[in-house]
Amino acid sequence: MEKVVALAKRRGFIYPGSEIYGGLRGFWDYGPLGTELKNNIKREWWKGMVYERNNVVGVDAAIIMNPKVWEVSGHTEAFTDPLVECKVCHKRFRADHEGELKKHEKKHGESIEWTEPKTFNLLTEVYLGTTKPKQKAYLRGEITQGVFVNFKNILDSTNMKIPFGIAQIGKAFRNEITPGNFTYRSREFEQMELEYFIEPDEKEAEKLFNYWKKERMDWYVTYGMRKENLRFREHGEDERAHYARFAEDIEYKAPFGWSEFEGIHHRGDWDLGRHKLIYKDGETNKEYTPWVIETSGGVDRTTLFFLINAYHREKDRIILKLHPKLAPYKAAVFPLLANKPELVKKAKEIHETLIKKYPVAWDARGNIGKRYFSQDEIGTPWCMTVDFETLKDDMVTVRDRDTKKQERIAIDKLASFLENELE
Ligand code: ATP
Repeated sequence: MEKVVALAKRRGFIYPGSEIYGGLRGFWDYGPLGTELKNNIKREWWKGMVYERNNVVGVDAAIIMNPKVWEVSGHTEAFTDPLVECKVCHKRFRADHEGELKKHEKKHGESIEWTEPKTFNLLTEVYLGTTKPKQKAYLRGEITQGVFVNFKNILDSTNMKIPFGIAQIGKAFRNEITPGNFTYRSREFEQMELEYFIEPDEKEAEKLFNYWKKERMDWYVTYGMRKENLRFREHGEDERAHYARFAEDIEYKAPFGWSEFEGIHHRGDWDLGRHKLIYKDGETNKEYTPWVIETSGGVDRTTLFFLINAYHREKDRIILKLHPKLAPYKAAVFPLLANKPELVKKAKEIHETLIKKYPVAWDARGNIGKRYFSQDEIGTPWCMTVDFETLKDDMVTVRDRDTKKQERIAIDKLASFLENELE
């Protein structure tokens, strides 16, 4: 974990938030490469969840909503975490994180004593307006409600018919009591969610719950997460969120233990029922409150687990084996020698052509070995080198990150090479 955190900082994936002022617990900034990686994850998710389906549309709702939304949805009352404090050293822990409590108990031995659990609301308050009393509102604690409050708008402005889905990606904020494990538990984070509206029917709900479970698990495997590091975990009666009739998590075997990074929830008619929203079937005129199957993933946790999953060491070198579609740079272009203007000129021409289509790095520092080393560390799948042969045959050496194999490819075929590989 420390190695991944160090690499993330050193190469510009993730920095501590507002670091020059000592940071702020639970807030992180994404650097140039982290921004690319996160955007690639979001884009591939959107492609798979929205573009490749004809019954899913997207929304981008406001972060701050009328506070009534949170009262009606049950969040002001029930969006809470239980907290206990160690009476010996006054450290605080989540009362439902048994493993951490046990670990801490070992530290103090017999003298350990805990306070009674207290519950804390996770919604972050904000105050709007300039004159007092200011209007109290909340930063959204989950992006989901932005979908429900637009349910009617979407029915009125599109031709969606049940079953259909509404997808959204956006920031959420939680006043987490115990932020930690790098970006895993942050106070500001991004979610990528689908709310899938169905007829109220147990059999249909079960079928679609299982369908979305499989779709989501397969998605992570397609983008390179190793199967043995993934599992489902069903929520027990006592741990389900207030809105969920049924819930399962997708967990990753992180260095700090199996950890949830996406939840599949059967929310039933909880939300639409609370917001008093109904659906009218255009053909049968039947009116009902649809049920909702939700897939709720965290962009930051997914980014972290893709990074951990990709981190490989080979002797003294690090190779980030990211799926090419997720890699920040798709390729890098080098002149073999930086002090030969004819090589630099040719390499620059290639670079300038390729960057019109793909993010492609340029490197003319040090020797070729160092440049490979540097690109491997950030997961660039292909390095393209212009050498003296290139000046004669208009071909470059393309080296593969994972196999280290090198092949000669004609300059005018480089764009289609990348296109084929990234298809
Ligand atoms: P946890 O039990 O770890 O607090 P949760 O069950 O409350 O998580 P959900 O409400 O189901 O999480 O949120 C859906 C997803 O949003 C999570 O699977 C996770 O990827 C992401 N998420 C939730 N809380 C955080 C957080 N504090 N930091 C980063 N991502 C988060």
